[in-house]
Amino acid sequence: MNESDSTELPVLVFATHNANKAREVQNMLSGAYRIQTLSDIGCHEEIPETATDLKGNAFLKAQHVHREYGLDCFADDTGLEVDALAGAPGVRTARYAGENADAQANMSKLLGALADTDGEDRTARFRTVICLIRGGLVEYIEGVCEGSIVRKQSGAEGFGYDPVFSPEGETVTFAEMSAAAKNERSHRGKAIRSMVSELLAKS
Ligand code: IMP
Repeated sequence: MNESDSTELPVLVFATHNANKAREVQNMLSGAYRIQTLSDIGCHEEIPETATDLKGNAFLKAQHVHREYGLDCFADDTGLEVDALAGAPGVRTARYAGENADAQANMSKLLGALADTDGEDRTARFRTVICLIRGGLVEYIEGVCEGSIVRKQSGAEGFGYDPVFSPEGETVTFAEMSAAAKNERSHRGKAIRSMVSELLAKS
């Protein structure tokens, strides 16, 4: 992330260790901000995500960077909300099948939990909440992607629950779409684009 021609730009830390996520945002904000990841600022610890909702977890991550490093920053947290499961797994999406569960274990548990649920009752949504802290001011930005949980996982693209989630208006899952097509519709894509518009409007 250390582009030599952007060192004059204000730094905005993305509280993630995922360099790919950060690069995507950097491309959208080039010329306005220099995006740094947690590794870029020397933060190598795992920031505990112990809040009871997405907003709380996004805040914990952003607040940690702001408090410990005194830098403007943002953090995101995403959950999958399934209507037939009263909004679960929600804040527990990453660890639905257990603390160290992998994506396959999480999807298998979800498909099992919905085994007796009919097609029209399998509605769900991905929700991303971003917490942005600039100059000590905290704000939240959300992106939602409505859709449903398919009966049988399908596709090999993407990550996480992509093979079991089909966005509204599509007949395929996220895992059967190109990264660009998914990004156009996705919760995270929407949340990041909203934040970027806001940052560019105020920069
Ligand atoms: P995080 O907040 O980005 O770490 O996401 C929490 C969990 O939600 C991840 O562990 C993934 O399992 C799941 N998840 C987040 N975004 C997506 C997505 O775009 N597709 C599928 N699963 C996702």
